[in-house]
Amino acid sequence: MRNSVLARKLTHERAAPTLGAVLAVVPQPVTVRVPAKVNLHLAVGDLRLDGYHELVSVFQALSVTDEVTVAATDAPGVQVYGEGAGTVPTDRRNLAWRAVLALAEHAGRRPAVRVVLRKGIPVAGGMAGGSADAAGTLVALAGLWRLDISREELAGLAAGLGSDVPFALHGGTALGTGRGESLVPVLTRHTFHWVVALDHRGLSTPDVYRELDRLRAHGSPPQRLGDVEPLLEALASGNPRQLALLLGNDLQAASVSLRPALRRTLRAGVDAGALAGMVSGSGPTCAFLCVDGDAAVRVAAELAGVGVCRTVRVASGPVPGARVVEDPRPVPPPEPLAHA
Ligand code: ATP
Repeated sequence: MRNSVLARKLTHERAAPTLGAVLAVVPQPVTVRVPAKVNLHLAVGDLRLDGYHELVSVFQALSVTDEVTVAATDAPGVQVYGEGAGTVPTDRRNLAWRAVLALAEHAGRRPAVRVVLRKGIPVAGGMAGGSADAAGTLVALAGLWRLDISREELAGLAAGLGSDVPFALHGGTALGTGRGESLVPVLTRHTFHWVVALDHRGLSTPDVYRELDRLRAHGSPPQRLGDVEPLLEALASGNPRQLALLLGNDLQAASVSLRPALRRTLRAGVDAGALAGMVSGSGPTCAFLCVDGDAAVRVAAELAGVGVCRTVRVASGPVPGARVVEDPRPVPPPEPLAHA
């Protein structure tokens, strides 16, 4: 009798750790929220011998976000949901997948993961959505695999994936130099309120840089941005009116040259009451700085009514970079995947 009780007890004890072990080897999916960026100042130098342009850029992370979920699987790949999802590659051209491969190699792991992207950041909109997904994937995967990896190591991997990826990790407001990947945090005393106007079609970033080189080589080159210092002072003061006078983007002339309708969008936003409007990065998304949150809602409503753009969103910044979401939405079921 004693023996059979002992036998039952041992069986039970063996069963419990087995279940625990299964739970331990199949970790829960991890979801990360990651922001879009707007460039408050984007000074583009001449084309370097390595094919890149020297940049001085002040980034601000906005409350326009993507969600990246990573889950362990035997059928690796990428699934994309949300606006413009159909135009995002799901194979190894996807920056999120490249982030999986980079971290897997760094950590000596098999890339046996499914990546689910929920796009809130406009695709090919000049707001670095692909870079955001890469940054989100690095953070999510480090969590899924419980890697003992510092933020600095992740930033090193991020820089290898693309020049906007380190900022998406970092968030806030930052000054970027080089190709934009060497970052220094910038002091800001204020939440700034923005309206973001999305265009019907994206613009290719390389095409916009080529157009800028063409404009600079021929005819009357567009005026170049001046020193970044006054803008940094305006950010520290927290005064949106002062900041509005100093926003600038050397790529704007090239984006407008390729998409002349942007001129109308920029005018419409200012006519609607924004303090200033500019093309975000390589465009075609336009970002309008407003005096406060109420003004942003009014400008957004009026701009939407004019019908010059596809969608209008209200946003604020700065917001933090890639962060784990504590109460994520359920992960959609696996789809037949384009294997990465
Ligand atoms: P960039 O960061 O080059 O300035 P962007 O901000 O204008 O680009 P993105 O949304 O990053 O625009 O998309 C640029 C292109 O990158 C898209 O046309 C798409 O084909 C490709 N791409 C690769 N991975 C992704 C991703 N995860 N999300 C969106 N686009 C991606």
